[in-house]
Amino acid sequence: MTEMDNSNHYSILVDHDGRIVIHTSRPDLEGKNIYKDFDSSLFEKYFEQVKEAEDIVRMAYEFEGNPVIGIFQKVDGRNWYLSVASIDDSHLLSVYLKHERILWANGVMLLIILILMVMIIKIRAELHSMNKLLTRENEKDFLTGIYNRRYLNLYLESLWNQKKVNQVSLFILDVDFFKKYNDHYGHLLGDEVLKRLTGCINESVRKSDVLARFGGEEFALVLEGVEVSETKRIAEQIIDAVYQLGIEHETSPFKRVTISIGVVIVQPNQLLSVREAVDYADEALYEAKKSGRNKVVLDDRVHKG
Ligand code: GH3
Ligand code: MG
Ligand code: MG
Repeated sequence: MTEMDNSNHYSILVDHDGRIVIHTSRPDLEGKNIYKDFDSSLFEKYFEQVKEAEDIVRMAYEFEGNPVIGIFQKVDGRNWYLSVASIDDSHLLSVYLKHERILWANGVMLLIILILMVMIIKIRAELHSMNKLLTRENEKDFLTGIYNRRYLNLYLESLWNQKKVNQVSLFILDVDFFKKYNDHYGHLLGDEVLKRLTGCINESVRKSDVLARFGGEEFALVLEGVEVSETKRIAEQIIDAVYQLGIEHETSPFKRVTISIGVVIVQPNQLLSVREAVDYADEALYEAKKSGRNKVVLDDRVHKG
């Protein structure tokens, strides 16, 4: 055995009460008790572990300022415990302890990062749904709940900016003699009429069609990819559905609330602006009003600019 071996390694035999029976390198500690006379709570902890586990316990601790590594084991058949230990002057222990600390720190960091990620994902989801809600509120008309003019403009612009787009049927719908209605029944009942009319029109069209409040008592309806004859049929169906509502209008020649519709069919492209398409539909509406109201005028040329 080399000198280095002798100076580094030693064994301690401890009885069940913690009294040191043999200490191979420090005979002065024999008879002392590891609970009372030792200044190492870790060594005490390992001693408790070996008594409980009755198995080999690996140790790493400091004693009188020196790093110590070793094992603790019960002596078969006796109530004694043998510790074989080595003062570590190769800094193995400190590397071990440092390594353990780094592992812990990494674990804690990972946990914090995970918690932060979960929080960020939750916040993002909440912001997303709030944004969606706000955007939806921004798009809707407060009285009727259908799209507002702002949304209609954005929607039409987006159609015009698409590379490939079907032809578009653009309707402008206007309540007949509505000023007279308000004068006779009051503005509040007038508002109720607007709500009932939009509900009725919505029921006559597909979910994908866009119905928007264009102005006070004017609405716009946009259908994509619908042929001229089908467009006309839908417009007439709306006129009829409103008529069938039978909302009393004493001061109208029809004695009930009616609407007029101007329709234009356009192929969106750079040669024909949104503004021009709306103007064509407005002209058709003007014709419908001029020629008696409660009717559709469809400009059946497909405008391409
Ligand atoms: P026409 O058949 O030519 O369309 O006649 P009109 O009376 O409907 O047309 P005009 O443009 O002269 O009048 C529109 C009326 O619509 C004026 C206004 O009092 C009413 N109006 C506009 N917005 C609202 C609204 O939000 N609520 C109510 N109750 N009335 C509205
Ligand atoms: Mg009007
Ligand atoms: Mg009107």
